[in-house]
Amino acid sequence: MNCNYVDIHTHHPREDVLSPRMAGIHPWHAERGDQLPDFASCDIVGETGLDYASAVGRAAQMRLLRQHLDAAAELHKPIVLHVVKAFEDVMVTLRNYPTLRGVVFHGFIGSMEQARRCFERGYFLSFGARSLRSPRTREVIAATPSNRLFVETDDSTVPTIEELYTEVAAIRNESVEELKQRIEENYKTLFIR
Ligand SMILES: [Zn+2]
Repeated sequence: MNCNYVDIHTHHPREDVLSPRMAGIHPWHAERGDQLPDFASCDIVGETGLDYASAVGRAAQMRLLRQHLDAAAELHKPIVLHVVKAFEDVMVTLRNYPTLRGVVFHGFIGSMEQARRCFERGYFLSFGARSLRSPRTREVIAATPSNRLFVETDDSTVPTIEELYTEVAAIRNESVEELKQRIEENYKTLFIR
C-alpha cells in the first residue's frame, strides 16, 4: 500500500500532503476581538487553546477556547489545541465536552504522565520539530499508541514533513512506511465519516 504523508497541523499546506483545512483564532489573538471564523467550511476547528506563557489575558483566552469547543461540539468536527503551561486548565475545560469528535494537542511537549491522561480520554498527540528537541517528549513519542499519533510542521517549512516522519519513525523503531500507514489511518478515522 502506498500511503500519503499527513501533516495534521500546518500553516503552509502542500498539494501532495494530506492536511485538514483549519478555521480558528489563536489564543495569542484572544484580546483582538476578531469575529469568529465560519467553522462550517473547515475540516478541523483551530488552532485555538490556552497559552499561559503569553501576556494575553487568561479570561479572554478561556472565552475564546469555549467558543471554539462549542462550535466543534455542535458541528461534530475535531479541534486542534495549542496548549502552553495550561495543561490542567485545558483538561478541566475539555471535561465539559465529552462528545467531541476528536481532540488533537498540537506541538505536544510534555510528560509521559500528561500523555497518558490524554490517551485515557482518546485524545491525539501531534509532534513537531520542537517536540523532537525535548528529551522527555521523545520518550512520549516512543510510547504513544499508534492510533493516537500525528506529526506536523506547524508554522515552519524546515524540517519538512518527510524529515519529521523519518525522525519520529526512528524514535519509535518502525519504518517510515509503517508510520505513514498508521497516521493515514488516524487521519481517516478523524475526518472521513
Ligand atoms: Zn500553529
